[in-house]
Amino acid sequence: RLARDELSVFLESGIYRFQNSNFIFVDPVRVLNLSYSRFRVSPSGYYRRFFDHVKKGLDNRDCLLNARKRKRKEKKSRCLNEKELAADQRHQVTKPLLLKAHGSLLQATDLLSVMGSLNREIDSSAGSRWVELPNDHQSLIEHGGVWQAPLYEITLKLPESSPSIEVAGSSFKNRVVPLFNNLVVNETLNEVEAEFLDHQYILPRESCFYMSDLRMVHNLIPATASSGFSLIVIDPPWENGSAQQKSKYPTLPNRYFLALPIKKLSHSKGALVALWVTNREKFHRFIELELFPSWGVTHISTFYWLKVKADASLISDLDLFHHRPYECLLLGYCHGEDDIEDLKILEQTVPKDQVIISIPGDYSRKPPIGELLQEYVPGPTLGRCIELFAREMTPGWLSWGNEPLHFQESQHFTRT
Ligand code: SAM
Repeated sequence: RLARDELSVFLESGIYRFQNSNFIFVDPVRVLNLSYSRFRVSPSGYYRRFFDHVKKGLDNRDCLLNARKRKRKEKKSRCLNEKELAADQRHQVTKPLLLKAHGSLLQATDLLSVMGSLNREIDSSAGSRWVELPNDHQSLIEHGGVWQAPLYEITLKLPESSPSIEVAGSSFKNRVVPLFNNLVVNETLNEVEAEFLDHQYILPRESCFYMSDLRMVHNLIPATASSGFSLIVIDPPWENGSAQQKSKYPTLPNRYFLALPIKKLSHSKGALVALWVTNREKFHRFIELELFPSWGVTHISTFYWLKVKADASLISDLDLFHHRPYECLLLGYCHGEDDIEDLKILEQTVPKDQVIISIPGDYSRKPPIGELLQEYVPGPTLGRCIELFAREMTPGWLSWGNEPLHFQESQHFTRT
């Protein structure tokens, strides 16, 4: 395909495939907006972190100075222990691939000009869309942890007509259902508005969520293995010293993830498992030696998420030890009945050197790549898809975690 074609595909789908490589640029806002017809995710909302930073008056020069300071500090204290040395070795192996992917982005002038206009869009809409929650706002996690949690209900504003034939202007009926420890479903072909304690949420078409603590995760296990999930995406709350992370969501020690019933959630024909992980060697070793073996998962490939700013530069120096501008997505296969055949096919079809490039959104928010991953699901038909530790919902997916409605709150959207 011509480069011009790639750009028009990107403008429609939010996904730009660099020619003759496994590098992909994703615009999360464009991808997410395909899930909504009456609402839009605004770039200034999604890229709020970038935006806060503009508001605080930190220009690129300040950032560069901070990064240099960090680098000098790291150099001074550079005496790597055994795990850090191993992490650095992994990094050195991956670095040429990431540099090549970044180089491809810098050469894609058509894409760069669209990214440039995003920059202007964010600037011009600065301050107009995003409404901050009041300081006393109780989070979904807090509500889920109190004794009244079983009594909390969410009201779904469903179309009066049959779910599959929603007509413009049709009237609505309220469906009131328990919010926690309950499968809440929007089975209609359009997004549905919902309300909980004066907070409004937008649920994408044909999506569902189960909001609970890890202790209730076994409730997701299907009655029969043939109705299990064929794609399982997991973004665990890995323990991390960062104070920022602590104030964003609770984290869990590694051993808790061993309890995730991945095998029981998987379809009898097997499942593709995609696990997000940071660059800490401790986590990589735990996954290789304990987590994947205990889940019955065979590692197939590692994808990389390379984080850039709207001007296409990396969000931090590639060699900055504790602030690498990339994260890993480990792809594995959870064995089904036809084991060997499916594993062989997956090993051939899943690329070994995939780099996904995007501008990051809120803290720890991952780019929406569910549809990309669906390409690699084993078997002739796509079974059900589930995201574990989700903070948002996706059409056709089940989202589970202690706050799967987090990014569905109406403040993240504008009405079209
Ligand atoms: N993938 C998400 C995204 O792109 O926004 C980020 C997930 S974040 C790394 C981990 C999530 O796990 C957080 O929402 C956190 O609140 C949730 N979590 C932490 N402890 C939990 C528990 N005990 N049970 C269920 N969810 C938990």
